[in-house]
Amino acid sequence: MFIRNDWKQASQFHDLSELEVLKEVSRRVTEVRAAGKTPIVLLDLDSTLYEVGPRTHRILQEWLDTPECTQFPNVRRELERLEHEHVGYSLKDTFSALGMSADESEVQEAISVIKKFWQERFFSSAYLTYDKAYPGAPEFVREVHQMGAFIVYLTGRDEPGMGDGTRAMLIRDGFPWNTERTHLLLKPAYGLSDLEHKVGAAKFIRAHGELIASFENEPPNLVAIYDQFPEAMHVFVETVSSDHPAPAGKDLYRIRGFL
Ligand SMILES: [Mg+2]
Repeated sequence: MFIRNDWKQASQFHDLSELEVLKEVSRRVTEVRAAGKTPIVLLDLDSTLYEVGPRTHRILQEWLDTPECTQFPNVRRELERLEHEHVGYSLKDTFSALGMSADESEVQEAISVIKKFWQERFFSSAYLTYDKAYPGAPEFVREVHQMGAFIVYLTGRDEPGMGDGTRAMLIRDGFPWNTERTHLLLKPAYGLSDLEHKVGAAKFIRAHGELIASFENEPPNLVAIYDQFPEAMHVFVETVSSDHPAPAGKDLYRIRGFL
């Protein structure tokens, strides 16, 4: 099992440019459509179609206005200079980008306090408005949808907390939604395993068509979907990812963005 950079190095990716990968997806969609079948494109949301750093940034700024924040003067001082580029996958990543070490007791304590504050907001519809669609992502998804692809958004977000906001943002950002051949697979409840949820989606996919491509920023999810559908293209979207270990992948594609 490998983590982050080690996983990228241990995995095997096709030597194609971003444009070539996206064109190949379009080509296969057209081909499967022409054969009278339904081509499915599977898309993760967080850190695949959407940059979620601004969501965390906003929440940390709000924390600076709380009374509890005054108990952590050093952390507060560092967080006051938080910029967009410091925001990483996790709070720990973000703190370390600001030069704070979780080995220091004030930092460690602050992280556990902030984590609770952050979780209550990050996993809620209201804060999804701070997310930004990655440049080119809505256009690409619209394009393959117009070519006849069935668009399945597969996300670890949960229906009760984030369903309404997720649908509203898909519309706001111009992703295909509220139209034929679109579907959103959310977790029915908060706290279920992401990986199980994503593997469970395989059932939906098989019932509705032929998987052409999946797009995902989390190595364990990408490899799990690959194992279910080895004949499809599986595209690693190289943005930010968790430090969850994953087996080395093979026959994968990768892009850094949709432009
Ligand atoms: Mg993701």
